[in-house]
Amino acid sequence: MSKNSQDDYNKKIQSGNDKAFLRMLCDNLDIGVSILDKDLNYQFISNLVYESLDICPDDLSVGDPLSKCHDLMMASGLMTQDIMERNKLSAHEQIERQKNNTENASTLVELGNGTTQRFTRKTLDNGYTVSMATDVTELVEKDRLLDAALALGKAGYWIYDVASKTYKVSTGLKFTLPKDYKEKLKNGGGIFSMIHPDDRALARTALKNAPQNNDSFKFTSRLLTRAETYVWGKTVGDVVRDKDGKPSQIRAFVINTEKERKIAEELTQAKYEAIAASKAKSEFLANMSHEIRTPMNGILGMAELLANTVTTDRQKDFLSVINNSASDLLRIINDILDFSKIEAGAFDLIPEPFDLKTAVNDVTSILNPKAQEKDLELIINYPQSVGQRFIGDAGRLKQVLTNLVGNAIKFTENGYITIDVKIASTRNNISIVDISIKDTGIGIDANKLEGVFNKFTQADNSTTRVYGGTGLGLSISKAIVEMMGGRIFAESTLGEGSRFNIKIPLPIDKNSVVQQFDIATIEGKRALIIDDIETNRLVLTEQLRGWGLTVDSVKDGVEALTLLKDKSEQGQPYNIILLDYLMPGMNGEELATIISNNSTLGNSPIIMLSSCNQPLSNQDLSKIGINSYLMKPVREQKLFDAISQTISQAADENNQTSLKREKISSNENKTPKTEILVAEDISLNQDVVRLMLEDSAYRPVFVNNGKEAVEVYKENPSRFSAIFMDISMPVMDGYEASKLIFAYQQSRQLNRIPIIALTGHALKNDKETCLQAGMDDYLTKPVKQVDLLNKLEIWIDDRVQIEAVA
Ligand code: ADP
Repeated sequence: MSKNSQDDYNKKIQSGNDKAFLRMLCDNLDIGVSILDKDLNYQFISNLVYESLDICPDDLSVGDPLSKCHDLMMASGLMTQDIMERNKLSAHEQIERQKNNTENASTLVELGNGTTQRFTRKTLDNGYTVSMATDVTELVEKDRLLDAALALGKAGYWIYDVASKTYKVSTGLKFTLPKDYKEKLKNGGGIFSMIHPDDRALARTALKNAPQNNDSFKFTSRLLTRAETYVWGKTVGDVVRDKDGKPSQIRAFVINTEKERKIAEELTQAKYEAIAASKAKSEFLANMSHEIRTPMNGILGMAELLANTVTTDRQKDFLSVINNSASDLLRIINDILDFSKIEAGAFDLIPEPFDLKTAVNDVTSILNPKAQEKDLELIINYPQSVGQRFIGDAGRLKQVLTNLVGNAIKFTENGYITIDVKIASTRNNISIVDISIKDTGIGIDANKLEGVFNKFTQADNSTTRVYGGTGLGLSISKAIVEMMGGRIFAESTLGEGSRFNIKIPLPIDKNSVVQQFDIATIEGKRALIIDDIETNRLVLTEQLRGWGLTVDSVKDGVEALTLLKDKSEQGQPYNIILLDYLMPGMNGEELATIISNNSTLGNSPIIMLSSCNQPLSNQDLSKIGINSYLMKPVREQKLFDAISQTISQAADENNQTSLKREKISSNENKTPKTEILVAEDISLNQDVVRLMLEDSAYRPVFVNNGKEAVEVYKENPSRFSAIFMDISMPVMDGYEASKLIFAYQQSRQLNRIPIIALTGHALKNDKETCLQAGMDDYLTKPVKQVDLLNKLEIWIDDRVQIEAVA
């Protein structure tokens, strides 16, 4: 502005019109405006100034000096000496500023009443100062809140202004950065100078890539602290652009993540330690299992052998106590091991194709003797519609069923136990198999029912004394069923009996075909079932109908005799009678005697079924016309064989032809005393195997470790037909020895010899490791004579076949 125009302006301001206009303008703004001349005397004071200072024009008016305003403010407490000094507001300081600074200068001043004003001053060319005051109390409050919130979250922010190349840093962050952060930001690499040198490249890349990421960026890095150390922090920010799309600001939040990082590190460490501990526990268990089973092998094996040699009843009693106690002990050990494995998370399922019906039958075959001791009948209801081939861990499923059926037998004094197998539903080739085990035993109190699935819990503590047990069985069963994705539950009425149910999803094994019975010889024949228990009649009827027989069933002797007579008179005698032994009224023996002595009843051949051990000698049986005697529950195959044999025999006899059947003994085909190599370091175990094979077609040759096994094998690779290989042995273990033998066979193109692992280990991986080491099969100690012989039979026969094909 030129000197002239400036003068004009001054004049205009003072002229009435312009002043009125200026007043109107200022009084309608939210800012207090005052104008001071170069001597700091007021030239203009807007209404808002009066209002916010709580004074009137009588107190302060045009012409009064600035110092008067200060005095008034001091008097009212709005201003203190301290505020004056801190903000450099005194008149002479303002004059100084006026001289040097013609730019907008703004200061935030917190007044004595708690409000915060932003004073902005501009000194004009003529020396006048326009001063504007805005109440920014609310903004400042918000800023403080933000700072406090950020501090709570251990966060702060920085804003980089692209044009001025300056940083604004939040209050909280200021205090965590080094004292000289301002210089560092200015002189060094900006915000990067606050980041650990190793993390800078990463931070730069994040910023550089912001345009590709919606103008946002984030990175985790170490940040410099006031103590010149580093802490971990996360930076999240964005780029602000002006209207031309050019970056105007970069803003970022910085969050201190040191604590989280420490916790995460500790967690990871704890996790590693837990895994290591669990691994150690599993290994300990594997060893325990081995250590305990090895001596048990000796006890059980020897007891089994002794049983064949002792003569007096007293000795037999002693032996049976040893046998029973050792078996009990082994069961308890297995329970505890299983339980620990579940706790250690080392319990795995091995799903494989299996036959569900066989699994159920296996369980009942094993438990049947126990049921017989108590005169309890085991009834299996396995309808044909259920199908048989599924995929699952048959061994573990059998373990659950053994526990449930075993409990049912244990807690039942009279009556029977029914095992019902059903399919609840099938979807996507997966069936929900529903197996219920119902007994007529002591039952469980309603409020104890849930608890029986807990570990070490028994429904009635006093039952332990009567029935024994560890209270682990059901909790293991529950864990297994749940691992299979199923559930287990129970219903019971005290004094009337219990029903335990498992429902498990099992994929249907589409690839295998169910064994088909050759029903040609029995199809269309007539059968009569005589049994007092309805479920038994239903199960048998269903089975026989499945094989194409025409079936009638009756519940007692009187009904049976009537029906037999009728049919015989009609010229349609039954081709086969299935007769229960234990029946109220007329029992099976009495009924059979009548049938066989009365030719008007059709002379039908009879198969007797019973849940007790054969009460009559074979001779007595045939005297009363019984062709065959079967123990309940009868395996399907056995029943089928018995029926078809009896029917065809009867037909043969009728034709007056007797075919002489040549009995082929499998042993006759074998060379006498096939040699078996047995690697076993413990001499007691050697004795067990030696004695178990004594009367067999096999002769064991013993070596004491893997190294000897390899040597003896190499001396004459075709000498042995099979090798039993202990796993844990001194000098060289079974895995290593098997690998060497296998490699030797391959290098010389020798025939493979079946290697069967014999081990006290019963953990899942052992089986895999054995098979991986080139072994063919696996037997867990304590070994039973039948298993030992069975394995030899299977593998040596197979080998003969392989050789024949080759
Ligand atoms: P254990 O039989 O070894 O004591 P379980 O876990 O198998 O342990 O069973 C826990 C308890 O549940 C048993 O002690 C018994 O009190 C009760 N129980 C289980 N099955 C039956 C049953 N079929 N009838 C009556 N009580 C049962």
